[in-house]
Amino acid sequence: MTTATAASHTVTDKQPQIDRKPFESDTVDVMGGAARWEVKVHEHGLIALVDTMPRLVPQGQTADSAIVQAARVSYGQGTKRVNEDRGLIRYLLRHRHTTPLEMIEFKFHVVMPIFVARQWIRHRTANVNEYSARYSVVPDRFYVPSTENVRKQSASNRQGGTEQIEVGTAQEFLDYLEQCQSQYETYERLLEKGVSRELARIGLPVNVYTEWYWKCDLHNTLHFLSLRMDEHAQQEIRDYAYAMFALIKPIVPITCEAFEDYRLGAAHLTRLEIEALRTGQPLATDNKREQAEWQAKRAKLGL
Ligand SMILES: Cc1cc2nc3c(=O)[nH]c(=O)nc-3n(C[C@H](O)[C@H](O)[C@H](O)COP(=O)(O)OP(=O)(O)OC[C@H]3O[C@@H](n4cnc5c(N)ncnc54)[C@H](O)[C@@H]3O)c2cc1C
Repeated sequence: MTTATAASHTVTDKQPQIDRKPFESDTVDVMGGAARWEVKVHEHGLIALVDTMPRLVPQGQTADSAIVQAARVSYGQGTKRVNEDRGLIRYLLRHRHTTPLEMIEFKFHVVMPIFVARQWIRHRTANVNEYSARYSVVPDRFYVPSTENVRKQSASNRQGGTEQIEVGTAQEFLDYLEQCQSQYETYERLLEKGVSRELARIGLPVNVYTEWYWKCDLHNTLHFLSLRMDEHAQQEIRDYAYAMFALIKPIVPITCEAFEDYRLGAAHLTRLEIEALRTGQPLATDNKREQAEWQAKRAKLGL
């Protein structure tokens, strides 16, 4: 008994030997040595790429190579020629073989209005650390759309609108947002009078800015982008999604190209739609929304 305890202690106390292997060839930093790549969004917002995994890749390759490295582990082959890697990545994207894409990670710093953050935070597969308005004073920054971007409620899409509203009403809306400023002055005054930051902040409107670090793997980042670059997403979060896509494209160009080909630019057909296409008959449903979606797909397909 005593001998067995002594033996197991010997094993756990032993310092493991670390064998530090160099890269097989020269490496390059996928961000070109920069600390951050930043894109301004609207007047006060931004999205910045602050780190990636992998950060170093063999010369002549992009971070796409980490996907290939993971995908090929099962049969013991490393990265092959670039055109074969491209074929493999495109196959993975087409067939939703997604775990190799989780080998790549991005860390972003985002400054956005709270109403955008509320939509963004629904994406649960990221790691998030947000600015605390309990510890710090909320800065005086509000999202105010330009007059052309004051949109009318759409009659067909209950969630949004794309058409510009007439100028008089747009101005009335902008005057309503002006009240944010006096609301903010009251916030500052109450802080000076000693009201706690955690309570004073709750009267601030949702167009005030927050910020966070957001870390997410490539698979879930593409899922975020497919939902938030879509025309059904609110314009303001779409602006961030487009900026995010522009930031990751040079890091994983092959994957982004496949994403554009097989996800962003693709159309999903339902069984009823395939049947309608095959038989040339109308779509077999009374559902008006489904009919409208079918018409939109037909237009996309040039039918
Ligand atoms: C245009 C649009 C309109 C929307 N409208 C509304 C709305 O009116 N009200 C509203 O509340 N939300 C709304 N949402 C939010 C939406 O319902 C999703 O919560 C959001 O898009 C995040 O999607 P997700 O869950 O797929 O993403 P993530 O949370 O990133 O999850 C990615 C994937 O991981 C898996 N996953 C993650 N967590 C779980 C879990 N707990 N259990 C099982 N699987 C999990 C799922 O497969 C999921 O698709 C809207 C989103 C969009 C794009």
